[in-house]
Formats: sequence, C-alpha cells, structure tokens
Amino acid sequence: FPVENIRNFSIIAHVDHGKSTLADRLLELTGAIDKTKNNKQVLDKLQVERERGITVKAQTASLFYNYEGKQYLLNLIDTPGHVDFSYEVSRSLSACQGVLLVVDANEGIQAQTVANFFLAFEAQLSIIPVINKIDLKNADPERVEKQIEKVFDIPGDECIKISAKLGTNVESVLDAVIKRIPLYAGQVGYLIAGMKDVTEAQIGDTLYLHKQPVEPLPGFKSAKPMVFAGMYPVDQSEYNNLKSAIEKLTLNDSSVVVHRDSSLALGAGWRLGFLGLLHMEVFNQRLEQEYNASVILTTPTVPYKAVLSSAKLMKEYREKEITIINPAQFPDKSKVTEYLEPVVLGTIITPDEYTGKIMMLCQARRAVQKNMMYIDQNRVMLKYLFPLNEIVVDFYDSLKSLSSGYASFDYEDAGYQTAELVKMDILLNGSIVEELVTVVHKDKAYSVGKAICERLKDSLPRQLFEIAIQAALGSKIIARETVKAYRKNVLAKCYGGDITRKMKLLKRQAEGKKKLRKVGNVEVPKDAFIKVLKTQ
Ligand code: GDP
Ligand code: MG
Repeated sequence: FPVENIRNFSIIAHVDHGKSTLADRLLELTGAIDKTKNNKQVLDKLQVERERGITVKAQTASLFYNYEGKQYLLNLIDTPGHVDFSYEVSRSLSACQGVLLVVDANEGIQAQTVANFFLAFEAQLSIIPVINKIDLKNADPERVEKQIEKVFDIPGDECIKISAKLGTNVESVLDAVIKRIPLYAGQVGYLIAGMKDVTEAQIGDTLYLHKQPVEPLPGFKSAKPMVFAGMYPVDQSEYNNLKSAIEKLTLNDSSVVVHRDSSLALGAGWRLGFLGLLHMEVFNQRLEQEYNASVILTTPTVPYKAVLSSAKLMKEYREKEITIINPAQFPDKSKVTEYLEPVVLGTIITPDEYTGKIMMLCQARRAVQKNMMYIDQNRVMLKYLFPLNEIVVDFYDSLKSLSSGYASFDYEDAGYQTAELVKMDILLNGSIVEELVTVVHKDKAYSVGKAICERLKDSLPRQLFEIAIQAALGSKIIARETVKAYRKNVLAKCYGGDITRKMKLLKRQAEGKKKLRKVGNVEVPKDAFIKVLKTQ
C-alpha cells in the first residue's frame, strides 16, 4: 500500500462523549462491519467494557476508504479515555499521526477532554475537533466551539459537527482524516514471536532484523502502580482458583503488580498494585466476571516514601529512600528524616454555581489551588494539587454528589511532597489489631481513627466482657468506642429441652468460633474485619 495513502489515527474523548459510537459509524461507512446489524461498541470486547460503557484495552481496526478516486488505508485505534489507562492512551497515540478529539455538544469540554488534548498536543499530532451529539435537544455546538477556541486555541471553524448516533455528517470526519492528517511511514499490525512469557515484551520495544541492530526508538515510561490493596479469597479453599485467575488476568494486564501477602484474619492472599482506582475496580470486576472468583478487596492505600536518617539504616535497607506499600512496614520516626506522599495535579470542570462547595471539598482534602479559569460564561476549570491518598477512596463520589453530577474530574501524576505522616494502631482491650494498622496524615488521624473505631463497634458482636476499641498514635489514645458486655447463653433457649438439640447448638457455636480470630482476649469474627477493611 503506498505510504502516502495511509493514515494512522485515534479517537480520544471524555468518557461517554461518543468515541465508541463514532468508531462504529466509521467501521460501517467503510464497510468494515455490516450496516444492517445493530452495531454497538463493536470495539469494546470485554464484558466490563460493555457494562460500564468504558474502553479498557486499546483496540485497532483497519478501514479502506475511497476518496477522490484514490483508495486509502485508515488505521483506527480506539483508546480508553480514563486517566488510569493513560498508558494505553499514550501508547496508542505514539502509533498515530492524528487524533479525533470528540466533545459532547451538550456537556462541552470536560476534565478528560483536557487531559487527552494535552497528551495529543505533546505528541505533536494533528488534532481534529469533533463536536458530537448535535441531535440532542440541549446541544449547543456553538458554545462548545467557543470553548475549544478558548481552552485549546484551535480555530472554531476547524470543528466538525456530527451526530455519531444518527450518522449525521460522519463522512466529513473521514474526509478530514485524509486531508488534515500527514502523509507517514508506518503501519499498525501484529507479529508472532517465540516468547514464552508476555512480560518479555515491553511496550515501546524496538524490533530489528537479526544481526542488523538499529538505533532504538525512545521507550515508554513503565506504568507505575499508585494504588495498593489487599486481595483475599472469601473462602481459603478458593485460594488456588483465585491464584490462577490472578495469574491469567495479569498476563493480559501486566501493569498490575502482585505481591504475596497474608493476614491473620483473612488468611493467605496478595497485595496488588494498580494504576488507579478505576483500574482496581475493573480488575476486580474482571476477576469476578471472567473467572468467577469472589474476593475481599481491602481499602486502598498509596505508596508512601520515607527518607532514612542514617548511613547504617541505608545499608540495612540497601536504599536511601524506602517505599512503603504496607502500613505494617511503616518505619518509625526515629529512623527517618522525612516522609513523602504522592501528589497529583487534578483538573475539575464544573458549572460555576458549584464552585464554592467544590473549593471547600478540595480544601478538606488538603488540596492546594493552582489555577482557576472560566472556559465559558458559566463553566469553570479548577486546577488543584491533591495528595493522592485524599482522593483514592471517595473523592469522585463526593464531587459528583455535591455538583448534582455535573462536575468532571481527572488527574495526572505530579510526583511526591513532604508530608507529616503517622502510623495509627487500632487496639482491642489494649492489644494491637495488626490488620488494622494504617498510615494517615497527622491532621486526619483523629477523624480516620474515629471512623474506624465506629465501624468496628458496629460490626463486633457483644461478648461476655466489655470491649474497649481504641485508636492510638504511639501511646496516645485519640479515639475510643465501647462494646458493652453481653451474657450469651445459648443453652438457656432449650431449657429442659432434649439433649440432641443441645449438642447441635454447641456444635454450631464451635463452628462459628473457627471463623473467629483472637486479638488479646477479644474474639473478632472474620466478617467484622471484612466490614472494616473493605472499601464501602
Ligand atoms: P465513549 O465512552 O466515548 O466510548 O462513548 P459511547 O460511544 O459509549 O457513547 C456514550 C453514550 O452516548 C451512549 O449511550 C451512546 O449511545 C450515546 N451517543 C453517542 N453518540 C451520540 C450522538 O451522536 N447522539 C446521541 N444522542 N447520543 C449519542
Ligand atoms: Mg467507549
């Protein structure tokens, strides 16, 4: 195929702005798929993609298109729009010379639109703005055109206005791909190699003919896990099944980092590292759907760092700076000159009536405002530097609920900052519960400690004696809850009853005990741990 008739391009957009629908229309228009079928997101193959309406793995398709008497080969790469999968986005972009930047004509520019634009801009690609969903009653393509001019500095007349759903004006998108994207040596394809293990092939590798080495292309930054969580089988007898499911799934997604781990309460399991929260949820959902596994996933934490204070310690750890992914391994302050926490630069786009509330939310999350800009008369773009651990659990949900769903959020890695971190213990009648040790910022210790104590109180059954639940920083108690004593007399129920019934009850009570773990003199059922450790 003549090189000047090849176009490699990709579609990028904020989630739900119509990337996959546009891809379906392009496939139909070029005859790659049958128009008479009811095609919906044909490039989204995974069940989780169809259910959540998101794309997780980049997919490719080759299209043939006749334009002004010549045949062109268009290689389309569908990308996941979400930040957690931005390593997929950037690897797709580096195989392209142009992008279709799809923006919803009603919602306008959203946080991911901005993030995706900059990825494409930095890769020096031709950017074709496409305003989609012009069929919607509330569509305001002129307003979106002005936003595109203001935020991206792209002349408004370069915007193509379409309805991907109805197919309106979709041909002009293909024409623009041919006219506006440069002429480049390169092809999207695949090769079969005799590798035993997929991890042998790194994204961004340069291949060359045997004995004819070439200058390698600049590689990729390898994806860094930023969110860690414990994963355990609901039942230990499921351990081997879960193990093989995790192995299979990580073959497909090498960005998940897997360490073996075990917990006194939850048994043998793993500590897994993910690129972000959505990545974690998607992995969990794929385990359940594609491998039928049922798992306990603990509250996620972020990788903290500690700078060691003496040469002796550096020798002992073989590093100047250690990364802590497990709170139990948090080094004592006496060993450390400073602690560091990961930070991200967040972009929020919102109708301006919610700005005040959003600023309060950000402040409560220890975020520092970096910028604020009106992208049109009543929409605001805010930039904040967030400690990552402040947004990993419920930030997005809070943002959505206080803006009635209108605010969008995206973030990018912004390195590390110094942080006053402390290790918090949870005690039951004076004994430390190892599974519940947490690392928190000192300003958050009180509220986090109180919340854990309350959750534990709600899930601990009463026992024969009173139980004190405490949160402590070293020897200082910062929160306390009490579970009152309760005399549990199972046999009283069958007063004067027959012996077999008594035996049955005693047996059931003994079985119940097997699922208990003893902390000091307190018996804690596995369920209680799960309730406290699990995300929501
Ligand atoms: P993606 O997340 O960017 O891949 O978005 P999808 O292609 O999955 O589309 C998200 C939703 O918007 C789906 O419900 C589509 O049917 C709908 N949609 C996409 N394009 C249009 C359009 O042109 N008009 C209307 N009304 N809805 C659309
Ligand atoms: Mg999609």
